[in-house]
This record gives sequence, structure tokens and C-alpha cells, in this order.
Amino acid sequence: MAKDFYELLGVDRSASAEDIKKAYRKQALKHHPDRNPGDQEAEGKFKEICGAYEVLSDERKRRQYDQYGHDAFTRTRSTGPTGDPFDIFSQVFGSNAFDSFFGGGGRARQGPEQGASLRYDLQLEFEEAVFGVERDITIPRAESCDRCQGSGCEPGSSRRTCSHCRGAGQVTMAQGFFSISQPCPHCRGQGETIDSPCHDCKGGGRVQRRKRIVVSIPPGVDTGMRVRVGGEGEAGTRGGPPGDLIVVIHVREHEIFKREADDLYCEVPVPFHIAALGGKVRVPTISGPADLTVPAGTQSGKVFRLRDKGVPSARGHGRGDQHVSIAVEVPTNLSAAQKQKLREFAEVCDDGVFPLLHRFLERTRKFFE
Ligand SMILES: [Zn+2]
Ligand SMILES: [Zn+2]
Repeated sequence: MAKDFYELLGVDRSASAEDIKKAYRKQALKHHPDRNPGDQEAEGKFKEICGAYEVLSDERKRRQYDQYGHDAFTRTRSTGPTGDPFDIFSQVFGSNAFDSFFGGGGRARQGPEQGASLRYDLQLEFEEAVFGVERDITIPRAESCDRCQGSGCEPGSSRRTCSHCRGAGQVTMAQGFFSISQPCPHCRGQGETIDSPCHDCKGGGRVQRRKRIVVSIPPGVDTGMRVRVGGEGEAGTRGGPPGDLIVVIHVREHEIFKREADDLYCEVPVPFHIAALGGKVRVPTISGPADLTVPAGTQSGKVFRLRDKGVPSARGHGRGDQHVSIAVEVPTNLSAAQKQKLREFAEVCDDGVFPLLHRFLERTRKFFE
């Protein structure tokens, strides 16, 4: 039974890349063969840790592992004690077998391989991100060849076991005292050859195409979020499943609203007489205008909350709020008549009209003496 990679490193499944790196350093140091000479158990553990880190440190591999578990990696792992490239290479080259553990060690890769996942950066308008949108996008990607159905062989012909390596995919060469295995040059490690390669894909089994895809963006996404479209990445090879399309969201700024998580923020100018007397103010919200009742005596900077007028949660429950910050506007460009009214107003004011100023003067009296 294969051990869980997260357990091997001692991290939980939500661990960040940085945590995984730290945990790996700690574990690898502890079980390193140089520190535990002759300890078979430590060496085995060290290899397992390297293998786990190889997968969990690679975003794509980690995702496959999360999705498919160990099955996603059995194709590149050992088929038996003698076929393990780690063993062979660690004997020849010491413990520096890191790269060879997963496929780099010259072992044949004849099994199905999942296609690569593709990244697409999508620019959205502010409202599109808030309410969700369907977008047509066109991506260049490798698709399975129609002519040969991905086999790489001209219709009517088929693959043949490589005569050079007899299907092993690797050849062993004697070099001095050592014998070194390397990928078969004849079949490039495939173990099979194609006599008549497919006319369209030249034997690769895949062709490059531009594919139009309708991507459904759910409401509430924000810059940096990723929307995964399963199976719309590149075609797999030798019958492997396709990769995914990962749409990375970028949201344009709004001219009025600022967004923080699911909450929206905006500033609304209010004429000083409404701020003084109280009244209704029309404020914009992302779903249309709303009335805000401003109480008498509202000062600049006062923030009112409009519940559930923010962004719908991308997780599918609830909605943020809108925060309206009041900016009291002092009148400008006054006519002579307007100025006269204000002077008359000032004449009938007493300390109680400007309590803030009154308190300030009380507290700072000594500075003016
Ligand atoms: Zn083809
Ligand atoms: Zn061969």
C-alpha cells in the first residue's frame, strides 16, 4: 500500500508551497543516507520523501495527485524492485537520484500520459466578475489527431515493438566498470516504432489546433482566482486523459467602487445642507441606485453600510455589503445673495451649532491665552 505523500512530509492537504518545502527540508535532512549510513529503513524513507516532494512541489503534479491519488503516478514509478531507476542510479551515482526518480532516469514511458493543463489569463470587467459571465475564448492546444485517433500510425498500419531494445525502451551500455542504462535511441524510449507515421500528425498522435471554448465564470470571482475547466487542456498521449484548462481571473478596476473580498466601498458627496438637516441621498450600488437616509448632523467621513449590496460570494452563499463613505461638500462659487444668506445664518449660530469646534476651543484655550 503506497503511503500518502502529505503524511510522508507531515503536512496537511491544504499546506502552502512554502510549508511543503520547509517540511521536506526537515524530513530529508533527518533521513538522509549520509546521516544514517547503513540504515536501510532511513534510506527507504528518504526515497519516499523525495518522491513525495517531487510531486507536491510541482503544482500540476500535486493537483493530479489530489485528484487521482497514487494512480496518477504509477506509470512513472517502479514496476518492480529491479525496474526502479532510483535504485540503479543511486548505486552508480550516489544518492543524487532526484531527477531520475520520476521518469528522468531513462525508463521507458510507454503508458498513457495525461495531457498538460493550460493556463489562460482572462480579463473581466468589474461587473462581469461580480455577477458572473459566459465568455468565448480561443486557445491553441494539442488535440488528439482525427486521422489516426491518436495512435500516430497511418490508418491500416500499427505500432511495432522496437527491434533494437525489444520493447524495453532502454538499452544498457558498458562503460568501464559500470553498465549504464539509457533511453533507446532507436525508439526514443518508447519501446515501439511506427513504420508509416500518420500523415497529419507525423506520428505524434496529436495536432495543434485553435479551439473555441465557452467558459462559464461564476459570480463573485476576483483577481487571482482560478476557474478550472476539466478536460479542456491538451490531449493526453497513448490514451491518457486530457489536461485541464485553468482560467486565471483578472478584474479591471471600477471607476466608483473599490472591492475588498465581497465588500464594496465608495465615497458619496453630500451637500452640506442635507448633511446638516438630514435627508435622502441616492447612492449607486452594483445592482442599481439605492436610497440612503442621512440623519441630521452627519459629518464627513461617516460610513453607512448597505447590507447585501456587495458581491455575491464565489463560494455560493451570501453576499457582501456596500460601505458608503460620506464626503460633505462645502458650497463653492457662491453668488452675492447666497453669501448674504450664509452671513445671516452665521449671525444666528451659537456654540451649540458647532459642538466639535466648541469642545476643541475649550480644550485648547490655554494655547490662545
Ligand atoms: Zn495522426
Ligand atoms: Zn527501442
